[in-house]
Amino acid sequence: MTIIDGKEVAAAARREISAEVRKMTDSGAPAPHLVAILVGSDGASQTYVGHKEKCCHEVGFRSTVMRLPQETTQAELLEKIAALNADVNVDGFIVQLPLPPHISEQKIIEAIDQRKDVDGFHPVNTGRMISGLPSYLPATPDGILSLLKYYQIDTAGKHCVVIGRSNIVGRPIANLLSQKGWDCTVTLCHSRTANLKEVVASGDIVIAALGRAEFVTADMVKEGAVVIDVGITRVPSDKTKSGWKLLGDVKFDEVAPKCSYITPVPGGVGPMTIISLMQNTLRAARGEVYGKR
Ligand code: NAP
Repeated sequence: MTIIDGKEVAAAARREISAEVRKMTDSGAPAPHLVAILVGSDGASQTYVGHKEKCCHEVGFRSTVMRLPQETTQAELLEKIAALNADVNVDGFIVQLPLPPHISEQKIIEAIDQRKDVDGFHPVNTGRMISGLPSYLPATPDGILSLLKYYQIDTAGKHCVVIGRSNIVGRPIANLLSQKGWDCTVTLCHSRTANLKEVVASGDIVIAALGRAEFVTADMVKEGAVVIDVGITRVPSDKTKSGWKLLGDVKFDEVAPKCSYITPVPGGVGPMTIISLMQNTLRAARGEVYGKR
């Protein structure tokens, strides 16, 4: 059994991105510039944006975080987005989700210029991804693909079971792994799936992205399976300074011995999600997907 080390893969990717940024700046081009908009004071969102900001500094990007109050109206946020769309000094930007309930996430996502949509959530990028055209891939699915590639995990002809059908994780990773080159046969499960246990147990590759702590147990996993745990749930803990710890969707200790490969939480998929965002921003700065602006 091999524990997939997302931190190691992310560190290697960071070195590659830094080297590319140095080449750009040495040739007189500006460093890529990523902007993150954070509305409100949700603890987890602040942590995620903080990690993204830190990673930007590590790879040599320019980074700006716009912190807006919880009461920001949808119209005000749309104005900020229009300004970022028009700003030639910004290569890509993200709006950290979730947004306060009075703001429509869909309206906000659709307002982002697809050429700057480095989260890969805009319907144009989704459509292009499904059609196999160049696009910004959503960060978490792209990070999973990078892990599979780094560990040279054979996917062709394998049965991949994805649990969770969200637009940001489950649905896109199911689509990508069914595409030519990855060649999986994919089953996409959700809360209405019948006989979920049996379906998951038939997977050569299991991707758990449902957000239910330790949901996947040893009896649900086939011997030798590859298990990718996307879930992140904060649970109270008296053993940590913060008072909480992170759990994945997989009961790691009992599932790991049955697996050929498994990702831990934390330190598996999480670090790769940020790397994919950096890679998308680098591609935006180079005009690789939609051409130079
Ligand atoms: P989401 O939008 O809440 O979607 C959850 C999906 O899981 C839904 O499709 C839901 O089915 C399905 N589901 C829920 N309970 C189920 C059950 N008992 N059996 C089968 N399916 C069930 O979640 P998300 O945004 O995709 O995130 C999923 C998890 O990944 C969360 O823990 C999140 O924090 C984590 N995450 C991690 C990263 C990372 O970087 N590591 C990035 C993004 C998300 P229905 O559609 O039928 O409701």
